[in-house]
Amino acid sequence: MIDLLYFAATVAFIMGLRAMSAPKSAVTGMRLAGGAMAAAVAATLFTPGLKNHLWMVVGIAVGGGWAWWQAKRVAMTEMPQMVAVYNGLGGGAAAAIAAAELIGAKEELPMTIKTVAVLGAVIGAVAFSGSVVAWAKLEGRLARVWRLPKGHNDAVFLTTLLTFGVGLTAAMSASPSEWGLLLFIGLALALGALLTAPIGGADMPVVISFLNAFTGLAVGLEGYVLENPMLVVAGIVVGASGTLLTFLMAKAMNRPLRRVLFAPLTGEAAEGGAAVEGRLKEYSPTDAAAVLRYAQQVIFVPGYGMAVAGAQHKVWELAQLLEEAGVAVKFAIHPVAGRMPGHMNVLLAEAGVPYDKIFDLEEINAEFPQTDVAVVIGANDVVNPAARTNRASPIFGMPILNVDQAREVIVIKRGKGRGYSGIENELFYRDHCHLVYGSADEVISRVIAELKALG
Ligand code: NDP
Repeated sequence: MIDLLYFAATVAFIMGLRAMSAPKSAVTGMRLAGGAMAAAVAATLFTPGLKNHLWMVVGIAVGGGWAWWQAKRVAMTEMPQMVAVYNGLGGGAAAAIAAAELIGAKEELPMTIKTVAVLGAVIGAVAFSGSVVAWAKLEGRLARVWRLPKGHNDAVFLTTLLTFGVGLTAAMSASPSEWGLLLFIGLALALGALLTAPIGGADMPVVISFLNAFTGLAVGLEGYVLENPMLVVAGIVVGASGTLLTFLMAKAMNRPLRRVLFAPLTGEAAEGGAAVEGRLKEYSPTDAAAVLRYAQQVIFVPGYGMAVAGAQHKVWELAQLLEEAGVAVKFAIHPVAGRMPGHMNVLLAEAGVPYDKIFDLEEINAEFPQTDVAVVIGANDVVNPAARTNRASPIFGMPILNVDQAREVIVIKRGKGRGYSGIENELFYRDHCHLVYGSADEVISRVIAELKALG
């Protein structure tokens, strides 16, 4: 019965994942995969010989209840932090399983199993501490970009050697000491923190996705150690999809993965953006309404600021008003706009913007030169032309939405705040660019009112 349930859950997992690849079926996919996970956990509790049921049920109730409560109240803009933490906990759990197996089973475990357990523990612990560092950076509790102290690379190298050395020695000994295993896990945790700390700025999405893939791999390896097919499948599915997402994100940023992960260590990383000279020119909401009203084609470019302000409903209302006035309206989405993959798609869908008005970067970039007005709503890095022109810029090479090629650009933001990567944006200083200052929801409301007054 347990094997049958595992098999059904596996099929449901894969079908759920498949359904998640399209916005319309994504919710069903989530429910299917979540239900499959609940069934698999319930089935595991009936494994013959399993002890401590009460502890397990209490653990599941406390952890699950806390996660449920947190997920219900989390703001959309804080989702990446939450994903980073939950993902890290998966890695940590895998590392804990490995440690428990090595301590509990001692010499009875074959060598291969012990080696796999050590490997899974290293990967899981790295995913855990790396995710905690990523969480702290996204929360703003740690600086996003670090100036590395001298000797950082040596520390990484040494910690890697020590981690595997201590881990394998402890595992190979006939009766591994608990202190040896604790030291091993401690070293692996330090390694994850050392590797993730220097990575920051616009590379964060790739790192989070990479750590996610690591968690999957660790869970898969520990599933092998425990001889639990469900864990193996779940781990492989997460590991494989996480790896694919990592490569897709790296491609979207035009960054080879090697550069994202190791540039800070090899000294290849750019130090920061150049200062920009020029003058910022302001538009009032009245000016913006007039320019938009008499345009033929307008492209809206949403970014993190629109998410913070929760302005998506207002933006869609404005777009509809413009359409009624005969203006052609489109929405352009950059793959890493906001703070999580698909962030802008989710917000626009929630506001009711039809999918056929939403375009990806490759689909829309050629249209900017024929566009009268590009309206940038709380986006910054994803429209920074330095990515195309300035080799010294930390975001050089990342494909951007070419809004600077539109005839006129209107940017809605609160002040002189920089983008996530912390660099200046020369677009804002260009002759054809005007800024309307204020929080996106307030500004758009005022533009709507002005537009209605224009008739
Ligand atoms: P950015 O973070 O580059 O810029 C956001 C801009 O929004 C700021 O310049 C800020 O300026 C403005 N802003 C903030 N609050 C408001 C508000 N209430 N109303 C109006 N404007 C506001 O956003 P982008 O979307 O352009 O770029 C995303 C960045 O985040 C990229 O660097 C990406 O790599 C990174 N990232 C993406 C992740 C993902 O998976 N998508 C995950 C982690 C990081 P001001 O303060 O002046 O208002």
